[in-house]
Amino acid sequence: MIETKGFAAQSATSPLAPFRFSRREVGDHDLLLEIAYCGICHSDIHQVRDEWGGSLYPMVPGHEIVGRVTRAGKAVKRFKAGELAGVGCMVDSCRTCDSCKRDLEQFCQRGAAMTYNGTEMDRKTPTFGGYSSQVVVDERFALRIRPDVDLAATAPLLCAGITTYSPLRRWKTKKGDRVGVVGLGGLGHMAVKLAASMGAEVTMLSTSRAKEADARRLGAHGFALTSDPATFKKLAGRFDLIVDTISAPHDLNQYLGMVRAEGAMVLLGAPPKPAPVHAFSLIFGNKSLGGSLIGGIAETQEMLDYCAEHRIASDVEVIPIQKVNEAYERMMKGDVRYRFVIDLKSL
Ligand code: NAP
Ligand code: ZN
Ligand code: ZN
Repeated sequence: MIETKGFAAQSATSPLAPFRFSRREVGDHDLLLEIAYCGICHSDIHQVRDEWGGSLYPMVPGHEIVGRVTRAGKAVKRFKAGELAGVGCMVDSCRTCDSCKRDLEQFCQRGAAMTYNGTEMDRKTPTFGGYSSQVVVDERFALRIRPDVDLAATAPLLCAGITTYSPLRRWKTKKGDRVGVVGLGGLGHMAVKLAASMGAEVTMLSTSRAKEADARRLGAHGFALTSDPATFKKLAGRFDLIVDTISAPHDLNQYLGMVRAEGAMVLLGAPPKPAPVHAFSLIFGNKSLGGSLIGGIAETQEMLDYCAEHRIASDVEVIPIQKVNEAYERMMKGDVRYRFVIDLKSL
């Protein structure tokens, strides 16, 4: 076993604190990664605090992992020791079901092995995430990272990047499309950058007036305050696609009113409580309401290559791991510009 240092939550109410645990030995198809950086996703907070139910403790969160390969199993083909690699939200799946065969491992019909707060495919061995010194992963679930990228700023692409890239591609975002992005946090700022890079006319829909200048710098062409009821009237029927990244309960009907006829709204944010949708919000305008969960491994690689090509990465505030609880508190107040990333050297 490989002795590993990390930070864990012991319960839904305890802060993250130092924790030692073991990783499995490096198997023939495995990589051992020394973790350099790990992003902090709002999903980490939801799960640490058991807001979605069923959380497993102790929990070492973190699914925006980048690092260097320090060992490669003897059957590994795509990586060599010394190269960079990334790990996102999944570390394994059955590989044979219909979803896995369609490159949608996140919907593996046997249940994908999530990077933390889950188990390996044996359904016994708990998985532990990237708030830790190293990780062992099958090379099929490791992503290639180009050596010329800013590593800390690349970490958030492994979740925030793919989660926003995938629906923009699915809704075929192109030049001139009017895209509204709701919520300027980790996901929201990637949605703005990616939609703008695809040629869309992007409007930031935010509760924070103070983020307007940043939204424009990130690539938004317009900005509207959702705390002002006039916004919903002014922008009624405006958008081809609305990308909703809000982490807390909110009125979906209000936002659907800003979708144009035949347009769509896609939910990425995962508030803990259900939100009612009025049928009239959809039938008047033939509108679609969809959802999107991260992306498969092949699409995640496509997104990383796209971002490296277009020089797109996250705007990050790098913190030592000792500040992780403070970072959670700041994210709860919407005070994140725009992704906290843990420098694991601090461990
Ligand atoms: P984040 O960095 O904390 O950003 C969330 C943003 O939502 C905030 O910055 C704020 O933006 C807005 N917001 C927060 N509370 C609000 C409220 N009460 N009313 C209106 N707006 C509010 O979070 P994140 O990491 O981007 O994650 C966002 C959500 O996506 C979380 O629920 C997370 O679990 C989920 N998620 C889903 C997937 C997926 O695969 N679907 C993947 C990753 C994360 P403004 O200040 O601009 O209003
Ligand atoms: Zn995430
Ligand atoms: Zn499967």
